[in-house]
Amino acid sequence: MVEMGRFPVPSLATRTWVPPSTPAVQEQQPAVDLTPPPAQVQAPVELPPSPVAQPAVVVSRPGQGIGVPILTYHWIRVNPVPNDTLGFHLSVTPDNFAQQMDFLHFAGAHPITLAAAMSALETGKPLPARPVILTFDDGYGDFASRATPVLQRYGFVGTDYVVSGFIGHTAYMNTDQIHQVEAAGMVIGCHTVNHVDLARVAPQVARMQITVSHQQLEQLLGHKVLDFAYPYGGFNYQVEQMVLADGFRDAVTTQGGTWLQLANRGAWPRLHIDGADGLASFAEKALTGTRADVVQELLHGYATRGAPAPQPSPTPTQRVATNGGGNDDRRLA
Ligand SMILES: [Zn+2]
Repeated sequence: MVEMGRFPVPSLATRTWVPPSTPAVQEQQPAVDLTPPPAQVQAPVELPPSPVAQPAVVVSRPGQGIGVPILTYHWIRVNPVPNDTLGFHLSVTPDNFAQQMDFLHFAGAHPITLAAAMSALETGKPLPARPVILTFDDGYGDFASRATPVLQRYGFVGTDYVVSGFIGHTAYMNTDQIHQVEAAGMVIGCHTVNHVDLARVAPQVARMQITVSHQQLEQLLGHKVLDFAYPYGGFNYQVEQMVLADGFRDAVTTQGGTWLQLANRGAWPRLHIDGADGLASFAEKALTGTRADVVQELLHGYATRGAPAPQPSPTPTQRVATNGGGNDDRRLA
């Protein structure tokens, strides 16, 4: 069990997500006409700007849904055991992750928070062009050491679902790292105390796993934690109601899909980013909602954008320059 209570706990009612070093992308968007079909609008200039033309902004009206891919990552690492098939599929190499984020930037995609998606659903507030939500499960240390520096480079935001009982364990973030990624603009979500399948335990156990992890993370962070992910994607109606009753704003599953509604905010679908994904299959997922021929044009444009020749990185855990081509299968790296 993680030692808790060492951090001051200010009011839990004061959460306002304003990343100290990274502007909240969704707060920068100009107001646009909500009347469908989506209008072609100029997206805000970011640092640095995407070289491709900006696409339409996704809009919604209260009560309607929005198509926003929520991508699921686990490890950002080179799978250390080549014959560990599951480990391979759950591991996106640092090089591939950096390339994926570089491509998102090139394509004019905008990673947003789950809060921004909810705001769009509740108020009709427009989302930026090509919105995508980046989520990371389990609170691994490589989220702090490998993912966050890349996300910061592009002003991107990611959400990591932390298992409260694993904090500080080998390969998991410790409390300092959790505070550091928050300070870097990332969002911490909740993933139970012991990573149990909530659909397979007694209701009182499920309730404890939900409420205790929620309390522990809020005590650690000093503000509300509103995003939840079901370990193994395991949930049922009763579990979903427990999560929402405990004050979570949204919960994500492992069920595939991209259609988000208020009515299913306790079970939003996600798209798994696999260790076997090349850039093309990544792009298909991350740019769901963009026409397939446009995605192909973006991939072609990215591959031929005049980037320097791919260079092997001697230190894959550090920030690395990305490339437009190369071999996407790094399982032997
Ligand atoms: Zn998990």
